Amino acid sequence: MTNNFPSFPLSRPRRLRQSAALRRMVRETTLSPADFIYPLFVQHGQDVRQEISSMPGQYRWSIDRLADEVREIAELSIPAVLLFGIPAQKDPVGLENFATDGIVQQAIREIKTAVPEMVVVTDVCLCEYTDHGHCGLLDEMGNVLNDETLEILGKTAVSHAQAGADIVAPSGMMDGMIAAIREALDSAGYPGLPVMSYAVKYASAFYGPFRDAADGAPKFGDRKTHQMDPGNAREALREAAIDVAEGADFLMVKPGLPYLDVIQRLSQTYPELPLAAYNVSGEYSMVKAAAAAGWLDEQATVLEALLGFKRAGADLIITYHAKDAARWLTAVS
Ligand SMILES: [Zn+2]
Repeated sequence: MTNNFPSFPLSRPRRLRQSAALRRMVRETTLSPADFIYPLFVQHGQDVRQEISSMPGQYRWSIDRLADEVREIAELSIPAVLLFGIPAQKDPVGLENFATDGIVQQAIREIKTAVPEMVVVTDVCLCEYTDHGHCGLLDEMGNVLNDETLEILGKTAVSHAQAGADIVAPSGMMDGMIAAIREALDSAGYPGLPVMSYAVKYASAFYGPFRDAADGAPKFGDRKTHQMDPGNAREALREAAIDVAEGADFLMVKPGLPYLDVIQRLSQTYPELPLAAYNVSGEYSMVKAAAAAGWLDEQATVLEALLGFKRAGADLIITYHAKDAARWLTAVS
């Protein structure tokens, strides 16, 4: 970086801000619908399109309503969806997680039939499927068991692969989860299936509305023994390093806006790997609530926030705003 600019009055940065066309010419970062991954919640039943009360504009879908929704997403040039399933029944292990006819497995098949080019990413964790709502198996004291959980994650990833998933995305922050999933996929005949690691996932208050959406709140305790402490950034590099060594194909930081510094550190440390940022439910709902109250311009706020992710170094943004943002971007360009 050069730092030897002449001073005022020779230097006048405002010269490059004189018109919209000029500002556009010198813009360093841009957004495109190709940057987005849109999360979808799927549940059992028929003709279900149930709005999530804490996330206005987001829905839970039954399989029979999914194809039309995914066609609409594809028409907006959004390349990928991220699936979360709400099972029919929950149990201590979360058996539906790796069932051939599980809700996510059905959804994958439905989407790949309706829109084969849509990239289907699947969340791989236990918390939506277990009756206790934790991200792993528990011992009799209620502690999350790490190594015993890895086998379930491997089975789940293979089951998603068999149904036709394009990318699996383990989100439980178990130690060794990437290696366990890689090994399970490879030995089941899926060496080419990429793993997107939620490498750096913080124990965050911003997940609140998601727990309504996916019905996945822990019945007791919290997730602080596996998710990261919000005060830590150096540890994020360690988490990412371990996942890279275990074979992760993508890295992810979650949540997004309060952790842009972490996104930047990861993008600079691992420029070779695509980096995703998860613009989580709480970030979404704050904007929606403020916009509904007339306190913020929703379109301008959302596009600015999403641009911030790109500027910080994210290559991909998982966001509930994806459909709206894609429409707005198409309208302005
Ligand atoms: Zn989980």
